[in-house]
Amino acid sequence: MDAQTTSSEGFRLEARAWLEANCPAEMRTSQHGEQDVCWGGRNYVFQSSAQKLWLDRMVARGWTVPGWPVEYGGAGLSAEEENILANEMKRIGARPPLEGFGISMIGPALLKFGNEQQKREHLPRIARGEIRWCQGYSEPNAGSDLASLATRAEDMGDHFLVNGQKIWTSHADKSDWIFCLVRTDAEAPKHKGISFVLLDMADGGVSTRPIVLISGRSSFCQTFFDNVRVPRENLLGEINTGWTVAKYLLDHEREMIGAGGSSLFDTDSVDLLAREIAAWNGGVLPEGQARHAIARLAVDTLAFEATRLRYLDMRAQGIELGAKAAVVKFYGTELNKKRQEAIMSLAGFDALYCAEGQAEPGSLPQFNQRATTWLRSKANSIEGGTSEIMLEIVAKRILNLPG
Ligand SMILES: Cc1cc2nc3c(=O)[nH]c(=O)nc-3n(C[C@H](O)[C@H](O)[C@H](O)COP(=O)(O)OP(=O)(O)OC[C@H]3O[C@@H](n4cnc5c(N)ncnc54)[C@H](O)[C@@H]3O)c2cc1C
Repeated sequence: MDAQTTSSEGFRLEARAWLEANCPAEMRTSQHGEQDVCWGGRNYVFQSSAQKLWLDRMVARGWTVPGWPVEYGGAGLSAEEENILANEMKRIGARPPLEGFGISMIGPALLKFGNEQQKREHLPRIARGEIRWCQGYSEPNAGSDLASLATRAEDMGDHFLVNGQKIWTSHADKSDWIFCLVRTDAEAPKHKGISFVLLDMADGGVSTRPIVLISGRSSFCQTFFDNVRVPRENLLGEINTGWTVAKYLLDHEREMIGAGGSSLFDTDSVDLLAREIAAWNGGVLPEGQARHAIARLAVDTLAFEATRLRYLDMRAQGIELGAKAAVVKFYGTELNKKRQEAIMSLAGFDALYCAEGQAEPGSLPQFNQRATTWLRSKANSIEGGTSEIMLEIVAKRILNLPG
């Protein structure tokens, strides 16, 4: 065994022992949706003392953001060690102690583009789960064509004055800060007049209005800015170079959505369901079609995993994924949709059945968790950029096809 293998194995054993000793039993159960996720933030109410204990212990270890430098709240782990930790957590079914756009989106952008003061102010608070972030990109007339955004930020010297509207802002009504794309030069070509600002939503002038969905729930909002004063030190990157920051952040977002980094994806669920159905049926699956669907998904998942591992390896060597994030986003989200379709067809009417009292107040009673997960998967290939746009990126930036 070479020295590197020995040290990886040492880290695996250390992580395994620590997790066994520190992950509460209640946190070794699967999350059944967004309500089980620990989002953190100023107003977050913990679901249980175990959830809080798990977060506190992981924060103390730097393992809510294991790859970030220690001085910003991380543990400075290498990509390989991060992977080992993730596998060890999976082995015991440990829930992520903390999730959110702070960790997966604005954190990586701050690490790359933030100045020292911005990193020291924001990153440790994200790592400790003290601030919940949301994303102010899309506008009523700027979705796929994001660079057409119209929210204005007037340069007032020591601050910017922001006016305009965002839409589809996930969890804006529950968030503390928002990272926002704003137009700072209306005369420049559209990609070149955009800046990236960070905004405390408790400062005056920001309001949110939830958008109610067919399920009766609301996971996103319209967000309005009315003469919001943003201190100049909250500009991330240089003025009018926000598009570069935005694209970098989007690559992280797309990889995260496609790779199923969110707890909304349950990669083992088809397999588990197949076993459940086989158990009712004397140990075999009832029909060839179902067996075929499961085998197809298993093969596609393996092929996708192999590609992802290759990309993770590139990351470990310090190579950014860039446009390859669009491959992960496209394939991962389309695969997840197929997986959810298969689950629904395998489970039949049972998938729609909702036991009395199971529905949340205000939601339509006919949907149970399985059905809501299936419906939610439809949004995966829209959020963070649609499948059509991902294919366009692959065509232009990877295959170099003419536009
Ligand atoms: C669950 C969810 C959460 C979201 N959260 C956030 C958030 O937190 N913050 C945020 O800023 N935004 C958020 N969004 C918005 C999301 O980024 C946009 O919905 C997405 O970028 C698409 O934009 P649009 O809805 O305006 O659709 P449009 O851009 O109007 O597209 C409509 C259709 O036309 C197709 N189309 C458009 N242009 C082209 C083209 N050039 N070639 C081929 N086809 C094209 C699209 O693929 C799509 O099918 C969220 C969306 C969802 C579904």
